[in-house]
Amino acid sequence: MEYFLRFKKARKHQEQMIHDIYESLKEGKNILVNAPTGIGKTDAALSASLTFAKENNIDIFFLTPKISQHRIVVESLLETNKKFNLGIKFVDMVGKQNLCINERINNMTREAFYTACTKALKEGKCRYFNNTKEYNPGEDMVMEASYGHAKFFDACFNRGLCAYEIATKIAKDSDVIIADYAHILNPNTRKAFLKKISHSLENAVVIWDEAHNIIDLGNSYMSGSISTEVVKRANSELEKLGKAMDITYIAFEMKKLAERKLKTCEEAFIGINDMPEEVRDNIDGLIKLLDAASLEYIDSKLGKRPAMLHLSNFLKRWVMEDDSIARIITKVGENIRISIDCLYPEKIIDILKQPYANIFMSATFTPIEMYSDMLGMNGANLRNYQSPFPKANVAAFIDDAVTTKYESRSLTEYEKIANRIIEIKRGIPGNVAVFFPSFSVLKSVFRYMNNEHLIVQREYMKNIEIDELLKKLSAAKNAILFGVMGGSLSEGVDYKNNLIKGIIIVGIPLAKPSLELKARIDYLDNKFDGKGDNYAYKIPAMIRVIQAAGRAIRNEKDKAIIVFMDKRYTWKIYHSMIKDIVSASKLVNNKEIGEFWINDVETKNLQQI
Ligand code: SF4
Repeated sequence: MEYFLRFKKARKHQEQMIHDIYESLKEGKNILVNAPTGIGKTDAALSASLTFAKENNIDIFFLTPKISQHRIVVESLLETNKKFNLGIKFVDMVGKQNLCINERINNMTREAFYTACTKALKEGKCRYFNNTKEYNPGEDMVMEASYGHAKFFDACFNRGLCAYEIATKIAKDSDVIIADYAHILNPNTRKAFLKKISHSLENAVVIWDEAHNIIDLGNSYMSGSISTEVVKRANSELEKLGKAMDITYIAFEMKKLAERKLKTCEEAFIGINDMPEEVRDNIDGLIKLLDAASLEYIDSKLGKRPAMLHLSNFLKRWVMEDDSIARIITKVGENIRISIDCLYPEKIIDILKQPYANIFMSATFTPIEMYSDMLGMNGANLRNYQSPFPKANVAAFIDDAVTTKYESRSLTEYEKIANRIIEIKRGIPGNVAVFFPSFSVLKSVFRYMNNEHLIVQREYMKNIEIDELLKKLSAAKNAILFGVMGGSLSEGVDYKNNLIKGIIIVGIPLAKPSLELKARIDYLDNKFDGKGDNYAYKIPAMIRVIQAAGRAIRNEKDKAIIVFMDKRYTWKIYHSMIKDIVSASKLVNNKEIGEFWINDVETKNLQQI
């Protein structure tokens, strides 16, 4: 069988993956694919689905959680189209705000942007939109669209056209639509989007890249929070607009509720009816008023991020009755916070039943059965693939001499961890990244490090600061990078050209005990036959561990040592998730670490420096 693949030859395991996906589509079944970095997931999924789509006249949606992941899809489609002369039309859709050329509106907050754009449309005040009404994109614009959203934005900007509107016009005739998760997953966006582009999911294969994000994203669409501080800010915005209305009673009632519920604790569950009566009785009126005032506030250039809009969106969510939602009141200093926490987005993921078939891909579908459960995909085909990189390029160990288990935390333990890091680093000729379960543990261990080559991540670092930190690391030959798991240095960053030769994972990043976590464990326990603790607590922590551990090996030439530093990694539940990395239950041994590098040419060069 010949598949449409842009490369001459499929990579290791890629051919099998293409075949499995194609066969799954033929059966009309969903498939979950757990494929490590390097297999070429994007090309494999596109190759199988393009081949199937051409034979069966079916559309393809390629969805990603981040815009940055669109680029490779565009490249793959362009080259495959050219190689096989397929004549496939495709468009790269990103969120409306990213395709908005109206400078007065496009730099607002997300919430404010949509309200302002809708208002401008209704009132006929967006000239870029008005320009698109009679405009039918010709071949030139279809071509521009196939080069990706960034180039397309420029093309529309030069012509004074709303890029979003034109992209949706092109999408109507497109066979493949590259888009964000939100276009399909977010119920507020989906209906209008599909209608606008005249496509249906029933006649489409939907590819979900990095699909381990679906559940969290789904939860976020139904969650939100406000605090007494937000209410106060919203009230002062109303004052600035000269409105007679005073909403400080909401904050007052929140405080009264806190006095009742938080006598002996810092957080408590509350119910839908715990919202103050004055708010409940007139919630629709209040939402309308806040929405209208928010627009007036933005129009008057008083600010781009009105707290009024945040409050109004929270109230819209508050009225949702759903047993998968926990409502929690918390005291943070003088501030009272009320949150709505979606524990499992059953209603959101219901949409996954609509497409002809779904292809869910991830490098961290571990264990894949959990994701099949969580995505409601019982009966789907489940496939795991091995890493295409040589196994001999990695040596992984468990260091069971220490732990960050809460009850065992002490200054002595932190000092021991620091000493273990220093000792292990001695055997690794090059940069080493050490990832901690939290900033608190990082700081505690940091005190015992006495090394001038330390590069340290701080809390709340901006992207630009993280880039600086990475630049420093790139310039270093023998540095130790300190970061946290689940952070920007341990996920999503490609440490190219074997920039790090060792990774030490300190502890297990289990979530802090909280009412939300308890509610989620209980909910999933009930839903998935006693698996709540694993699904909500232990496995998500281990996914962060696997993400961090995977940073060093990004191509077939990279070599690295990985050390899982905590005695709990020898426990069955945790060990079972790293057993493919740590081939045997190897405990760390400095001699073995040294020997691993003996024949490495670069290492020899480094030692001569
Ligand atoms: S219609 Fe288009 S250009 Fe106008 S504000 Fe909305 S997204 Fe921006």
